[in-house]
Amino acid sequence: YTQQHNRTQARKATMARSTSTVVVPASSRKLEGKVAVITGGASGIGESTARLFVEHGARVVVADIQDEAGARICAELGADNASYVHCDVTSEDDVAATVDHAVATFGALDIMFNNAAVCGAACYSIREGGKADFEHVLAVNLVGPFLGTKHAARVMVPARRGGCIVGTASVAVALAGAGPYAYTCAKRALVALTENAAAELGRHGIRVNCVSPAGVATPLAMGYMGLDTEAFEQAMEAVANLRGVGGLRADDIAAAVLFLASDDGRYISGQNLFVDGGISVANPSIGMFKDVSET
Ligand code: NAD
Repeated sequence: YTQQHNRTQARKATMARSTSTVVVPASSRKLEGKVAVITGGASGIGESTARLFVEHGARVVVADIQDEAGARICAELGADNASYVHCDVTSEDDVAATVDHAVATFGALDIMFNNAAVCGAACYSIREGGKADFEHVLAVNLVGPFLGTKHAARVMVPARRGGCIVGTASVAVALAGAGPYAYTCAKRALVALTENAAAELGRHGIRVNCVSPAGVATPLAMGYMGLDTEAFEQAMEAVANLRGVGGLRADDIAAAVLFLASDDGRYISGQNLFVDGGISVANPSIGMFKDVSET
């Protein structure tokens, strides 16, 4: 019940923020003519990114294991703009078929967003960590992006039109203790995967980057913490570095991915862009600053 409840709440929060039909004028569209695959595109950050990409003129393949949600989002976006594919990112056949589907349906692949992930079973001590769960999280969160990067490169390199690959890492790559063991290990390794792929694929005009969000109220994060949207957002606000601007939203991550994927980021490669209000570099609890306007 709790997971279903959280999903519904997160969906409402995402919808409220990102389904208002924003019509971006043609001259301001940043992804006109581009084709993107978005794994984990049926929910949260992936869904927000799919919607923003389409607003900016891209055609997207939403790849996920939540078939109903994925198909519904694509129907909302329109068949000319979006196509849903069932894709378990741990399956190389699924990932290869998803990339091939993008090329067959929309004629090319320009952007691969390796975003799908899981948190794994709730585990608050290494003494309770299960080996099978650890391996499953690595399979989804690390092997998945490896396969996505591999098959994106398979079609991008011979197409000779450059390309952009983006992964979703996490603030846990910089803050120990901010995520479960397998999750943190997978996300840190995703940064290494990103850097290595940037080093190899740069000569083909392909850029490879990742984004690292802090906590966003999505089913993944709320489910792990067992909190509803309001309680989750309060918990994040309580530990945030950046205050008074409203909390971090899936749309903020989508905007960062758009920046990296578009010509705005045309010379950025091998980077991990933190979207975290500065929490990865600041520890407010040991800070030396005080608000002098109050003294
Ligand atoms: P979410 O639960 O809303 O979305 C995750 C999506 O991945 C879901 O649609 C799910 O069905 C899909 N998925 C899970 N396993 C899959 C598989 N094997 N194959 C294909 N799809 C699969 O959560 P989200 O927060 O939007 O997560 C998106 C990304 O953001 C993840 O990489 C996550 O680790 C990362 N992230 C999230 C937060 C946060 O606080 N929400 C913070 C840092 C990083």
